[in-house]
Amino acid sequence: MSNNKKNSISSGFYKEPVPHITPDSPFASMMERFRFAAEILELNEGVFKYLSSPEKVIMVSIPVTMDNGDIEVFEGYRVIHNSILGPSKGGIRYSDDVTIDEVKALAAWMTWKCAVVNVPFGGAKGGVRVNPKELSQNELERLTRRYTSNMLDVFGPDRDIPAPDMNTNEQVMAWIMDTYSMNQKKTETAVVTGKPIILGGSKGRKEATGRGVVTCTLAALSKLRISPSKTSVVVQGFGNVGSVSAQLMYEQGAKIIAISDISGGYYNKDGINIPAATQYSLTNGFSLEGFDGAEKISNRELLELECDVLIPAAKEDQINKDNAPNIKAKIISEGANGPVTANADKILEEKGIMIVPDILANAGGVTVSYFEWVQDRHGYFWTEERVNRRLNRLMRESFDNLFMVSEKYSITLRQAAYVYAIDRVATTLKLRGIYA
Ligand code: GLU
Repeated sequence: MSNNKKNSISSGFYKEPVPHITPDSPFASMMERFRFAAEILELNEGVFKYLSSPEKVIMVSIPVTMDNGDIEVFEGYRVIHNSILGPSKGGIRYSDDVTIDEVKALAAWMTWKCAVVNVPFGGAKGGVRVNPKELSQNELERLTRRYTSNMLDVFGPDRDIPAPDMNTNEQVMAWIMDTYSMNQKKTETAVVTGKPIILGGSKGRKEATGRGVVTCTLAALSKLRISPSKTSVVVQGFGNVGSVSAQLMYEQGAKIIAISDISGGYYNKDGINIPAATQYSLTNGFSLEGFDGAEKISNRELLELECDVLIPAAKEDQINKDNAPNIKAKIISEGANGPVTANADKILEEKGIMIVPDILANAGGVTVSYFEWVQDRHGYFWTEERVNRRLNRLMRESFDNLFMVSEKYSITLRQAAYVYAIDRVATTLKLRGIYA
């Protein structure tokens, strides 16, 4: 039985309850790191409590008439973690295993991420429990429009601004923009980012996350005095973030010795021809299955390869206490959100591995989302060169800021990122005060 059948009214089944927080869950990892930073900052207990819980958690049922006339019901979430720094911002993911706990963690990470790169947004995240591969394009459109219409009081260019995340793309953003605009009786491009360029999207947005990952990776390499052209790189995940990171590192002269996607890992000790792999994936239904420029390895082997840089750009919890002792990279640049669990941090630190944390490394996406929002509101659009130049500058400055904080307190870059972000949010909260 397909997963969407499980949620079907007509089949009489109701979805199993959503799993809650486990010690290894993304939310637990986020909280552990938050607690550590709060101690360093001697954060007021009330402020700690305030920032531990999301401002708003919205859960909706999304009925969709399927192409065969059946009604299916999907569960959708939007979590606003915090809007102290500005309208809340964050992507929407479509996945049949997304949970409210995961969305809560991801929403909090967006708050810290925006604070790390100094963009004037709070943090949010959305999710729909659906496997989009099982839906037709028309079903996906109806699902997206109904989810958006359930969120009309939540979304808004000055309130909460969604963006793409796992399994959502420019087309999904276009439907969100249109549904919202139809209800407002005017076109409101700034309600969502990551739109097609022709609809008010920004040049460079699609590549922005991967580009930011590479800017940070190059900054980290220069701290370790390793030249990019002498660097071996392993990239886990070949979606938007992984493939762009691999391509840009390749253009820097690095040797990309392994890549992977859902079909498995691909290894070539002499380096993979990334443009050829990208072309292959594009013409093969976004799959590397059958790519002959490398030998097949498992996901586990891929993560444990000897290399200078490991870029996990797939999912959460990929490096955990079980495989952390075997990781041999010198630098881990977190393209994904939460790819390393909190209990793996210590092991990796003891091994002397430098981690460029997700809330810095993958912040290029939300940074160019901010640029897109600014351009939409001005009605004036920038060249790609301008977008990339400003992105690189901002990412580089953020890296340097965190590096300084890490030296000041003798802590890791991850801990520095949390300290910097929480300090910024807490200072703003103190100035704004608690509305009564
Ligand atoms: N989903 C992306 C992230 O996790 C982008 C969010 C945005 O641009 O608002 O950072």
